[in-house]
Amino acid sequence: MKTDRRKFLKSLAGLSSLAASAVPGASSARSSAGISKAQIQDIRLSKNKGYVRLVFDLDGTADHSVFALHKPERVVLDIKNAKMPHGMVDQVQANSLIRSIRSGVRNKNDLRVVFDLSESVTARSFLLAPSGKSGHRLVIDLHDSKKPVEKSATVKKSRKRDVIIAIDAGHGGKDPGATGRSGTREKTITLQIAKRLEKSINKQKGMKAVLTRKNDRYLRLRDRIHKARDNHADLMISLHADSFPDPRARGSSIYALSVDGASSETARMLAEKENAADLLFGDVNLAVEDQMVKEVLFDLSLTGTIESSLDIGGEILGQIKTVNRVHKKKVQQAGFAVLKAPNIPSVLLETAFISNPREEKKLRSSSHQQKVAKAITRGVSKYFARKAPPGTWLAASEGEHFVNNGDDIKTIAKNHNVKEEDLRARNALYADNLMAGQVIKIPVS
Ligand SMILES: [Zn+2]
Repeated sequence: MKTDRRKFLKSLAGLSSLAASAVPGASSARSSAGISKAQIQDIRLSKNKGYVRLVFDLDGTADHSVFALHKPERVVLDIKNAKMPHGMVDQVQANSLIRSIRSGVRNKNDLRVVFDLSESVTARSFLLAPSGKSGHRLVIDLHDSKKPVEKSATVKKSRKRDVIIAIDAGHGGKDPGATGRSGTREKTITLQIAKRLEKSINKQKGMKAVLTRKNDRYLRLRDRIHKARDNHADLMISLHADSFPDPRARGSSIYALSVDGASSETARMLAEKENAADLLFGDVNLAVEDQMVKEVLFDLSLTGTIESSLDIGGEILGQIKTVNRVHKKKVQQAGFAVLKAPNIPSVLLETAFISNPREEKKLRSSSHQQKVAKAITRGVSKYFARKAPPGTWLAASEGEHFVNNGDDIKTIAKNHNVKEEDLRARNALYADNLMAGQVIKIPVS
């Protein structure tokens, strides 16, 4: 068996064209009773923190197996009763991990793909059923095996990182966004609120804010996404102000991305309006870059990013309604291009209607802007107090404290020898009343 495999691998070298010469039809019926061969339609590669992901687009389901071989390091993928067009593996660019990819036919009908690697990995694979615009997919994740296991938390506690919040002030520069009846421009309001939000977030222990723009400049939607990604953001909040022909329309609303279309007609129209900035002012239209969009949506649906976005959106909405009327009681969903940041939960907040004279006035007022910034901060920290990414200060704790009758935040902080503000930040405690039985996380110092 082992020698056979060796021989086979040897014979594969330089023979990536073999797959094309497979003769369909002449084969005996295999696993699925005479069903024609699964065809690989595309291979996509994405690099992620700690792993490289390969996605094989298939026109149907397929039995497969994945195993690793060492010295030299390789990962072998066998797909039963499958074929792949000539030269397809050559599309996948070599990178620091994958030195080369070869493919060949095995047992007359099966496809074998060999990845030559520069280091040892742990391979994980799974199949995905069609969803949205994507068809059948086979996903192979090559995880860095040297990645240290998160165990020595007590040793590293001083090096816990902050949760990074990317704040995106909508519009800017040549794209003013909507304009209110008194001439207030959306791009000005969003930047003012963004800066207040930045300050408010940075005051919060365990969180750090980054702005996609700090001044009145035009940014394409994809540049906003890149900015968030380059800063390793854990969340992106895009700030906007709504407008509608009827000046009576009012209230705040919050949106997350949808893979399968908009949750309402209003949501769809709004997404079209916000996406139009790129059509009007940008040199690239994100919407027509089908392949990228497909990939991103796939990744989002796969990693549960949309689910997290809805969760965060719900927390923010819960806080926003204490400072402004809420236009829609639930987090809405639509295809906003700016929310398509791979692996980064993203929400878009329409702070209020700039087209409503009363709300326009509110949006201009610094005290209202401050209230909005504080409300967003509370919502965000409530979410991350529950679900901070591993390795962050907000995810760590020394232990738990079960609240007894008569306990207050000050005493708990004192008894556990932690700062009161840290205790508040770690647990997103904004009010002073604690409930008996409530569990308080004791932050790491
Ligand atoms: Zn806008």
